[in-house]
Amino acid sequence: MPEGDTIFRTARALGRALAGKPVTVFRSTYPLLTRFHDDTPLTGQTVDSVESRGKWLLIHFSGGGTLATHMLMSGSWHIYRPGERWQQPRQNMRILIENSEYVAVGFRVPIAEMHTAASLARQRRIPRGETDVLSADFDVPAAVQRLLERKNDAVADALLDQRVLAGVGNVFKSEICFVTGVHPYCKVSALSTEQAQALVAAAQRLVGANVLEDSGDTIVTYGGRKRRTTREADPSENLWVYGRRGEPCRRCGTPVRRRLQGLDARVTFWCPQCQPMPDGSDVDG
Ligand SMILES: [Zn+2]
Repeated sequence: MPEGDTIFRTARALGRALAGKPVTVFRSTYPLLTRFHDDTPLTGQTVDSVESRGKWLLIHFSGGGTLATHMLMSGSWHIYRPGERWQQPRQNMRILIENSEYVAVGFRVPIAEMHTAASLARQRRIPRGETDVLSADFDVPAAVQRLLERKNDAVADALLDQRVLAGVGNVFKSEICFVTGVHPYCKVSALSTEQAQALVAAAQRLVGANVLEDSGDTIVTYGGRKRRTTREADPSENLWVYGRRGEPCRRCGTPVRRRLQGLDARVTFWCPQCQPMPDGSDVDG
């Protein structure tokens, strides 16, 4: 599952390729999209903007329609020049948007919906900008409040809930807990308001740092070792705890623990020394 920063970068790249230019070709293998296109042709319309909302990618057309896609595990958007060879087989194409300069191809995009402004505002699965840690509209106090309302959840599970904070994925979850010194299995009810504020601030800071222009494709939260010695760098090299089970904590040297957490059994990493449970207990890792 791509993290919010990945979707943000995809939206930025698609925006540069598509925004402000009239659509010359629109194709899709999804009947609902082609029916919308038959009724309200997207060809000739201009793409107004492309934005990410959590893990959703929204393409706004000048006619008022919005194409909302979710990548889940399998989907991706590629940008090509007309005539350029695609990196995926043609049968993986689900959506194609072309203008005079670029072809944007959605490969194996599992969820794609056309919305009007009204239906977009009505439906609940696509997060609003105020809940997206990468949005200029992100509302910090409201996010702290939503987090604190998840009293019975473990902190790591609450951070992953896109209705609490959109844009935080599984890698950032562990990293956010580490940099704030909060145990991922700590119940939200045991958090102080200051800790909840620190978690939200860390989410905004860490995810935000990964969408800077020069941030590349690798998630970076640990800045201690920037130099790459090999081309195929180990992704965990750039992280505090994620992917580092048994390796020494970068702050205290205690071996990092790992455990599958929550109903979805998502992998979680933490340092038992730097992230103590409030009652002094710990869970096996
Ligand atoms: Zn530590």
